Amino acid sequence: MNICADLHLHTIASQHAYSTVTEYAKQASQNGLSVIGITDHGPAMNDGPHEYFFMNLRILPEHLEGVRLLKGIELNILDDEGTIDLKSTILSTLDYAIASYHPGISPAYYSQKQYTNGYLKVMDKPLVKILGHIDNPAIPVDYESVLLKAKEKNVLIEINNSSYGYIRPGSYEVGKKMLLLAKEIGNKIILSSDAHFHEQVGVLDMSIQLAKEVNYPEDLIVNSNINLFKECFNV
Ligand SMILES: [Zn+2]
Ligand SMILES: [Zn+2]
Repeated sequence: MNICADLHLHTIASQHAYSTVTEYAKQASQNGLSVIGITDHGPAMNDGPHEYFFMNLRILPEHLEGVRLLKGIELNILDDEGTIDLKSTILSTLDYAIASYHPGISPAYYSQKQYTNGYLKVMDKPLVKILGHIDNPAIPVDYESVLLKAKEKNVLIEINNSSYGYIRPGSYEVGKKMLLLAKEIGNKIILSSDAHFHEQVGVLDMSIQLAKEVNYPEDLIVNSNINLFKECFNV
């Protein structure tokens, strides 16, 4: 599989991450990626940057170290109504957003119905292009309804490489079941590193293994082909 883009990266603006935008771009260039996307945590995360950080991303160049640089955010879904933690006026200046539940930021006691409703509603927000790590077993979801709406709204399902290490235990098995269903529905997916250090950019070994294990069609993996990617992200 020829990965061309990694759209889930955290810089030092999220204080539990350890690399700069430039370090990511240099590493991505060395790793042969064409596109990267910076997606620091929304302001509701305990160590997320202030909203000014997102407002000012527009000053960054379109290309850095020969790599196309997209400006994004990993929004926190704050409740079961899909409320997010960035004003629409600022969000609209970005290229795209990932929307994720993070236990501790979002309520940890919701039912499957409530989390599902949150995902369904957040897909109605402009620029929400990716649902982040939705195979986390800590967040129970009715996958059929979420995947059907994602297909309808052209929202991508993320296959998050970091989840399959020690970060979100049990995600690999849930992800496998989810992907089998997504394959039937015909969802577009994106493989991403969720890197918190530049050496992780484009490192997608576990995500690739999972996609291969279920024989996921490459023409539905948007960052496995630059033309498919450009069509999807309009870049
Ligand atoms: Zn996340
Ligand atoms: Zn993340």
